[in-house]
Amino acid sequence: MNERTLQGIHHVTAIAGDPQENVDFYVGVLGLRLVKRSVNQDDPGTYHLFYADAIGSPGTDLTFFAWPGALHGREGAGQATTVALAVPQTGLEYWMKRLASHDVAFEGPVHRFDEEVIAFSDVHGQALELVAAPDALSRQWHAWDGGPVPAEAAIRGLHGITIKEAAEDPTVPFLTGTLGFRPVGAVGGRRRFAVGPGGSGAWLDLLVTPGASRGRVAVGTIHHIAWRTPDDEQQRQWWQQINEAGVPISDIIDRFWFHSIYFREPGGVLFEIATDGPGFTVDETADGLGTRLVLPPWLEPHRAEIESRLPPIELPQLERAR
Ligand code: ZN
Repeated sequence: MNERTLQGIHHVTAIAGDPQENVDFYVGVLGLRLVKRSVNQDDPGTYHLFYADAIGSPGTDLTFFAWPGALHGREGAGQATTVALAVPQTGLEYWMKRLASHDVAFEGPVHRFDEEVIAFSDVHGQALELVAAPDALSRQWHAWDGGPVPAEAAIRGLHGITIKEAAEDPTVPFLTGTLGFRPVGAVGGRRRFAVGPGGSGAWLDLLVTPGASRGRVAVGTIHHIAWRTPDDEQQRQWWQQINEAGVPISDIIDRFWFHSIYFREPGGVLFEIATDGPGFTVDETADGLGTRLVLPPWLEPHRAEIESRLPPIELPQLERAR
């Protein structure tokens, strides 16, 4: 048994349209905290917005590149399609009322594995699920007391990710052989895999649609999924193992809040393996997270130019949870 395992989802990065609409939805409706207001390090004239629990605990982080005015993407094979977010089992009633009161149409709840699931889309068409998971309450999570959702119903982090492929091969052998995922069940054409500890935050669901055409990554679709590794040493070992499997892989990239390697699983979905540290409080206090534009040190000399290219965004006026 390999002792080095991925520890679940580190973050998911998707593509939004207008950044203010993105903030209004994820903070104002879903009640996540904007924990980092930064720029896409590969395209510094555009925002990279990070939403998470109060302090950006590993596994709670959903992030967006904002591409205002860009084309919408198309869901298809070789793509991660749906982000599932965990909520306490007692919280689903609350969420159905809350989504309805914000005019967000949803489907469900439906029963899937041992979960209840409601499905909807964000303001730019990104497919989302809220999953009432039996183990949601045992997750590492910090309540944000400035948020609009009461802690007992609040989103507890990323629950799982759904990817779509035209065939099981060669994705499944790569997941199970190289990355250490384990098949744990199947229901209605959905195959579930667990990684590391398994459970909420460590699920990958695979939907196979034979003959499906390739998706197009743009507004309203997922850009990549990052998996957790505890430290730099294990990350180096993953790099070596994936490289030896013949899969093209990036160098180790310093993202300042974590270190990352990128590669495509052979079906086409862009994966990242990211370290848990240093974390989001390395350059801001926990209280101040997300309140100002932060740049990694190597972009700081260009701050004035970067700020002049970014549209202003504001946190929504929130009715605080009682
Ligand atoms: Zn990433």
